Amino acid sequence: MRVVRFTPLPEAGLGTDPLYGILEEDNTITVITGDPLYQGIQKTAAKLELTKARLLAPVIPRSKIVAIGKNYADHAAEMGSALPEEPIIFIKPNTTVIGPSDTIVWPEMAPSIDYEAELAIVIGRICKDVPKEKVNDVIFGYTMANDVTSRELQKKDGQWIRAKGFDTFCPLGPWIETEFVPGNQRITTTLNGEIKQDAVLSDMIFKVPEIVHFVSSVMTLLPGDVIITGTPAGIGPMPERSVVAISIEGLGQLTNKVSARP
Ligand code: MG
Repeated sequence: MRVVRFTPLPEAGLGTDPLYGILEEDNTITVITGDPLYQGIQKTAAKLELTKARLLAPVIPRSKIVAIGKNYADHAAEMGSALPEEPIIFIKPNTTVIGPSDTIVWPEMAPSIDYEAELAIVIGRICKDVPKEKVNDVIFGYTMANDVTSRELQKKDGQWIRAKGFDTFCPLGPWIETEFVPGNQRITTTLNGEIKQDAVLSDMIFKVPEIVHFVSSVMTLLPGDVIITGTPAGIGPMPERSVVAISIEGLGQLTNKVSARP
């Protein structure tokens, strides 16, 4: 199932508060009650056309976004780094999250800003020390993220919190696919229509079971926490007012605009 979070447009007649729903095959949305991470998926009789909804980030991370660095060998090579022996983790604040179609705002401190296409894991249950063979029990589903990064500030600071922590630096969406099984699906980024990143998820050094096991061995994961799993080679800057689109087969397309440079 494709779980969406959205604001109905006025003509849908469903009020103006954000709602959750299931995106059906015919591009209609069936409204569900409450937050599916806490209340499960309970469909209501209310429906609307996808064109009468503005999609939002499909999950609000209440506590954290955990990110994996250098998880594709070709990207580690382009960064001039050795392959990591265990996952390298960092945290993006939840205030970085924006939805599909929202604008990535170029911060004044950043000389340039890069895209990074990533598979995103949405955690569905409170968990700690999850064995590799049990990670599917704690995963609600998958979506995509753009781990927007100021490469200059990343190098200057020697750690990554500022470079990856500005508001709007984590577009998420367009929906959560609850039946997705990571395998050899293609992951791509296009910038103004031109392909910049093109890889397969099976190129990841640490795969999803190892990642969830490792991160949950460090910290308790809560429902709605998001783990983003690293980016393949081909990173580069987004010009002002460009359009960046991230795709993973089976997860749709996450498209965002970049603001003017301040
Ligand atoms: Mg990244």
